[in-house]
Amino acid sequence: MIPDKTTPVWHTLDGLDAVRELGSDVQQGLSSDEAARRLATYGPNALVERGRKGPWRILWEQLTATLVVLLLVAAAVSLVLGDYKDAGAILAIVGLNTALGFLQEYRAERAMAALKRLAVPLVRVRRDGHVRLIAAHELVPGDIVLLEAGSLVPADCRILEAINLRIQEAALTGESEPVEKDPAPLPVAEVPLGDRRNMAYMGTAVTYGRGVAVVVATGMRTELGRIAELLQQVEHEPTPLQRRLDRLGRQLAVVALAIVAVIVLAGLLRGEDLRLMFLTAVSLAVAAVPEGLPAVVTITLALGAQRMLRRRALIRKLPAVETLGSVTVICTDKTGTLTENRMTVTVLELPDRRVELAWSTPREDGLPDPDAAVAPPDGQPAVALVLAGGALCSDAVLEPGSGAPFQAIGDPTEGALVIAAARFSLSKAALEAHLPRVAELPFDPVRKRMTTVHTLPAAQAPDTEPGGTRWLQELRRAFPEMRAVAFTKGAVDGLLTICSYVWVASRPVPLDSTWRARIVQAHDRLAQQGMRVLGLAFKPLAAVPDGTAGRTLQTLEEELIFAGMVGMIDPLRPEARPAVQRCREAGIRPVMVTGDHPLTAQQIARQLGIATDGRILTGQELNRISPAELERAVEEVPVFARVSPEHKLLIVQALQARGHIVAMTGDGVNDAPALKKADVGVAMGITGTDVAKEAADMVLLDDNFATIVAAVEEGRIIYDNIRKFIRYLLTTNSAEIWVMLLGPLLGLPMPLLPLQILWMNLVTDGLPALALGFEPAERDVMRRPPHPPGESFFARGLGRDVVWVGLLMSLLALGAGAWYWQNGRAEWQTVLFTTLTLSQLANVLAVRSERDSLFTIGLWSNWRLVAAVLLTVLLQLGLLYVPALQEIFGTAALPAGDLALTLVLSSLIFWIVEAQKWLVRSRARARVQAGAR
Ligand code: ADP
Ligand code: MG
Repeated sequence: MIPDKTTPVWHTLDGLDAVRELGSDVQQGLSSDEAARRLATYGPNALVERGRKGPWRILWEQLTATLVVLLLVAAAVSLVLGDYKDAGAILAIVGLNTALGFLQEYRAERAMAALKRLAVPLVRVRRDGHVRLIAAHELVPGDIVLLEAGSLVPADCRILEAINLRIQEAALTGESEPVEKDPAPLPVAEVPLGDRRNMAYMGTAVTYGRGVAVVVATGMRTELGRIAELLQQVEHEPTPLQRRLDRLGRQLAVVALAIVAVIVLAGLLRGEDLRLMFLTAVSLAVAAVPEGLPAVVTITLALGAQRMLRRRALIRKLPAVETLGSVTVICTDKTGTLTENRMTVTVLELPDRRVELAWSTPREDGLPDPDAAVAPPDGQPAVALVLAGGALCSDAVLEPGSGAPFQAIGDPTEGALVIAAARFSLSKAALEAHLPRVAELPFDPVRKRMTTVHTLPAAQAPDTEPGGTRWLQELRRAFPEMRAVAFTKGAVDGLLTICSYVWVASRPVPLDSTWRARIVQAHDRLAQQGMRVLGLAFKPLAAVPDGTAGRTLQTLEEELIFAGMVGMIDPLRPEARPAVQRCREAGIRPVMVTGDHPLTAQQIARQLGIATDGRILTGQELNRISPAELERAVEEVPVFARVSPEHKLLIVQALQARGHIVAMTGDGVNDAPALKKADVGVAMGITGTDVAKEAADMVLLDDNFATIVAAVEEGRIIYDNIRKFIRYLLTTNSAEIWVMLLGPLLGLPMPLLPLQILWMNLVTDGLPALALGFEPAERDVMRRPPHPPGESFFARGLGRDVVWVGLLMSLLALGAGAWYWQNGRAEWQTVLFTTLTLSQLANVLAVRSERDSLFTIGLWSNWRLVAAVLLTVLLQLGLLYVPALQEIFGTAALPAGDLALTLVLSSLIFWIVEAQKWLVRSRARARVQAGAR
């Protein structure tokens, strides 16, 4: 690390001096070589993470789990009593168990770390004279970064340029109102952070406008880094499911320990050996308390998150994996999520006539499109005005060197405008050189429009003005005093309320009700076809407004002259319709929430099958209705149009008040509250802002609605699988307890030895349970309603099954054991023990599906489970036939006939559980048939 020599007081320096001081250049940025050198010196731009669990920490936690400590004590006691065999066996079992647990948790931890790395935001930086997108942790001091609404400030920066730049600094200063930024140097050094108008600090968020800044400090040297120690909270907060499991575990523990006490007491009263009873108590406690469950659940969730990533859904918060499984409503954006966000302008509506832009779509072979460049619309200055205004009032740019078919960079809506202009030989770059932008009011989703102001070149004789600017000459002729012009583009309904004139036949005409009706009619005709319609208006200005004073700019959006509108098509995503269908089958309601016009929204919703009737609510109507009315409405209305981000929050709240589990998508800064409030906040990976991603539980890497549905499916699979291994583990435990409880009643001595109990719980149980976590989707996973959130683990018969299947297993094993015992056979205990172990394996095959039979789902659809079962059988055989193990575990070699008997008995469990599932299935079928009649 470089020693902080006298660090300049950045906020008192002039911006350019600051850049010079940092050895950088505003236009060129750093060279990549210099950046690499600095990265090596200063290290990555990241806060040192405290919450991460290293391998040692994981190992330590494994070894200090109550269960392990208990066993270590037991081993120690055995050692003291001189029972080396037992002590050694216990230690070996603990070792095996710890190794398995460690490996699993380490894998889960690595999977989560990999997900976190993917979630690092990208920053737009000038390097080698080009704008590059780099990962935030690669930033170094001296980098020139471009900030825009929605981005997180990636490091501490001195602001060099600010256009309406507002930054939310609550994370650092506690001030909740965004601060307006200004590059001017401050006169004094002693200014609190919150008042350093020309600085932007890591961890704060740009809420409005844009700016350019130079990085002055990175990583732990930032202001945030300085207080990072305080901010680092405990990372590993348990998920709701884990919390419930914990509670369940504690409840079961109380019951189990009571039963253990009974068993031990009864044993002592019968005159059993005290030492044996001590070990039995410990082993039974281990058996009965499902202590390992929460850990297995985390592992399953983390690996599930990894599977979701393969389906393009990046999980940011682990609990989302389980919540996804119970989602009942998905509220989704339209543009980009249901549609492709590949906008193309196809029609232009002037106030008095319509112009179809009948150009062919770009050719498939990528060769220049002969129709791409259309003759200059000089013959049609009114057309050129709308196209040029649209291009000037956009932040999108043509990709450098892109010939026809043109490519644009930036917001697709604006890209469509820029491309449309380019095809009429109105290049945005040339326009901007001619009419430079001097001020602007950026787009925001509440106003649904944006305005830019451009100065005019000094008036020239009409014939010397460059070609293609007849539209400009006409403006000048109509407004001789004009020095600048403001263009406003946006939603037509809103735009009409601020327009006073229409531009017809090269002059402004008052916008009376006839014109208004005409424009609205033309608009609605386009919107009804599902087009996005954008209006363009302008305002001649006698003086160039002061771009820095936000207040005076406000008057720009008043008394405008309406010039026309464009209609753009945006193809539906091909996956969207089937995904909507799958939602419906899965009992999930898809709801469209869009800023677009109701007619446009309605048409798209119809095509996708989201809306079948005409029910629709607009943002305006939402403002009027009462919360109670809203709650009623959200149950039925499938489309919300012309909404602002705060309406999204209202919709989420109303749905939640009705008991729904809501997934809500969002991309903008203002969507953050709704994303946080939703049960599953979903941010767009491509078009989404950093702020939205930060607030979200899940990020769609492809912005695709179908990906949400895929993630829901994965969530359901994971929940199913967790239920499966809970069922399996608890059944096994219940069987063991029944054996120990009922054995003495049948006149048997201690039916199982402590080491045998440990063996079953820590070795033969573990592998099959883990493999259950890899069960593929059940056939009907997306054809049944979502499970109620917070549903008890024992719901849907699980509790009942655990008790009776466990009892059945124990009766089979005890029956066999008792019969051998009565016939004076020494192998009675081995028969009992083996029957029980094999029954568990038979059970695990049967519980792979809650409803379908193993023959439907196929034995090999989860090969891991087959492998786990085979391996476990081998281990059990080893215990029976390896002399050294026989001695430790008190087993005896079973003759083939007896071994076969244990196999037959235990496989009964499989058939009985399958028979029960068959019964459930046929009853369900009968219900369906009864319902059909
Ligand atoms: P969506 O829910 O479809 O993403 P948006 O919030 O992006 O809706 O847009 C809402 C409305 O704002 C659009 O229907 C359009 O009229 C207007 N609009 C969208 N983008 C721009 C833009 N870049 N400039 C001006 N107006 C825009
Ligand atoms: Mg949008």
